[in-house]
Amino acid sequence: MPDIHPKTTPIYQTSVFAFDDLDALELYFEQPGQNYMYTRYGNPNTDELAREVNKLEGGAGGVVTSSGMSAILAAVLAVCKAGDHVLCAEEIYGGSAALLSQELTRIGMEVTYVPTADTYNLQQYTRPNTRLMLAETMSNPLLQVLDIAKLAKETRKQSIKLVIDNTFATPILTKPLALGADIVIHSVTKYLSGHSDVTAGVVVCREQEDLQRVQTVMKVYGLNLSPFEGWLAARGLKTLRLRMKQHSSNGLQLAQYLQQHPKVEKVWYPGLAEHPQHELAKEQGQGLFGGMLSFRVKDDTAAVNRFMRALPSIPFAPSLAGVNTSISHPLGTSHRSLSAEQQQKLGITVGVIRFSVGIEEPEELIAELETALAAV
Ligand SMILES: *Cc1c(COP(=O)(O)O)cnc(C)c1O
Repeated sequence: MPDIHPKTTPIYQTSVFAFDDLDALELYFEQPGQNYMYTRYGNPNTDELAREVNKLEGGAGGVVTSSGMSAILAAVLAVCKAGDHVLCAEEIYGGSAALLSQELTRIGMEVTYVPTADTYNLQQYTRPNTRLMLAETMSNPLLQVLDIAKLAKETRKQSIKLVIDNTFATPILTKPLALGADIVIHSVTKYLSGHSDVTAGVVVCREQEDLQRVQTVMKVYGLNLSPFEGWLAARGLKTLRLRMKQHSSNGLQLAQYLQQHPKVEKVWYPGLAEHPQHELAKEQGQGLFGGMLSFRVKDDTAAVNRFMRALPSIPFAPSLAGVNTSISHPLGTSHRSLSAEQQQKLGITVGVIRFSVGIEEPEELIAELETALAAV
């Protein structure tokens, strides 16, 4: 091998690593993290991603997984076993609810959903076998902001772990571990990778003990990420701070524009003074409010369709957090499986449109909206 020094980490597209001799093998076991054996156990590309996310979240370490879903699975399985009980915020990502209610219950776990009004009062929901509570920094699609420090105080009082899904906020806005959470998970698919070209997840733990459990679960269940996807995500992560500033600045400008538009009935964005947790969002988000916003036009399917078709270049794509703006329709996608009653209770009606605001020039986005809203 020539003596080469790449400035960035090359892609280690290999499933296995070779050893010189038995001494090298012994060294691998004696000095964990110094060498590699098998990509499912660890790979320089996924390790780089884990290290960089952990640096941002300020934990004891991170574990990279194949998706946001497997990150949530790894976090829950690290702490819980059959017979255990978990609490989950009522307003949660649909996939997380499906994992808890439909799958983990099949292997002997129990789940209780905590109504939003009782979030900081868990006494009546906690049982002797309750192990953790799962909640999101900002809820989808109505951007309700969680007071993490307040919830962490309550989970500590109840002697259960707090697992925060920080996907919408990112560590640029909020660092849940510093506010008292025990475990943070991300769908790296979204802002951390940022370019809508990777599916990945990460778990970051405050304590070494949890970290080791998550590592074991990742390895034994085979929840690892591929080297190439790890490389892509680590590359995207390098611009996270810049992107979040632009997402947030565009988000605020769009929210303000929508708020004054006669065809818009309501806007949900934590950066607006009218938002019920505006002050909390400001403090907990370092003055940034992120790139996600929702708004309601009239509850009329035909009008929503006209709006979508009239957007010159913004696609209707049911994901989020890419550099390009996209829209989604919560009633038709993420909240489709809820009962009509639940949808009504949450306020998710046919006229509610979710915007994942990209990093384009804000004037371009407002011009697009102007055209599309005229068609409503
Ligand atoms: C997308 C998402 C997930 C699931 O992540 P995948 O990478 O799609 O598996 C979990 N939580 C939140 C808040 C998400 O937006």
